[in-house]
Amino acid sequence: MRYQKIPDETVRRLPVYLRGALHLSRCGVESTSSEKLADLIGVEPWQIRKDFSYFGDFDTPGVGYDLSSLVSRVNNILRLDAGHKAALVGVGNLGSALLAYPGFRTYGFEIVAAFDIDRRKIGRRQAGVSIEDMAALGALNTCGLHLGIIAVPETASQDIADAIVKAGIKGILTFSPRRIAVPRGVKVITIDIAIDLARLPYYLPSNRR
Ligand code: NAD
Repeated sequence: MRYQKIPDETVRRLPVYLRGALHLSRCGVESTSSEKLADLIGVEPWQIRKDFSYFGDFDTPGVGYDLSSLVSRVNNILRLDAGHKAALVGVGNLGSALLAYPGFRTYGFEIVAAFDIDRRKIGRRQAGVSIEDMAALGALNTCGLHLGIIAVPETASQDIADAIVKAGIKGILTFSPRRIAVPRGVKVITIDIAIDLARLPYYLPSNRR
């Protein structure tokens, strides 16, 4: 770990700050304040200042944040500056949408390998990526791929996690709602859209029932 005791919530917000900073840069803005960045992305200015304070000085008094150095520092902290290639397992409804999504490139990600067990899909190309048989998963070791995305039915997710970890994957993004167990040193991030949706009605006005 390069940084000690950084709250997960801070790490979770850094890509949001990066997205805001990239947006302002694209609009030709060269520097900004925590207030303006906060207003753009919908957090409190003090939160931005507190999060950045874990990593040293980000702003120049009287000038604010220089956007190009902010982008480069956040990229460096998140290790996005080197670019990352990822493997996808499960090219169904969700997997196909992920393969086709261009937005990952903003952060330097590219899905370069895809695997499935469905014989009708194996050998096909989708979004420029060839869908491989699961038996070819071992090739990940030789390609030096360390990130995997799991988009298989939840009953298969643990087996898939075991298999990709064996093939050298160290970071897993899973869309399968089931908790998966991995060895120490492997990071799993679960995206469960239903969980986010399930808390949404709580915020509705009570007369909307
Ligand atoms: P899907 O059935 O359309 O696709 C699943 C794919 O995984 C298929 O191509 C199937 O052949 C493949 N597969 C199944 N078992 C496999 C195995 N053992 N090894 C390799 N490939 C295997 O399902 P989906 O709708 O794309 O959903 C995928 C996952 O994402 C599920 O866990 C689901 O709960 C979750 N999810 C989906 C959505 C959505 O909107 N589609 C939303 C949230 C979460």
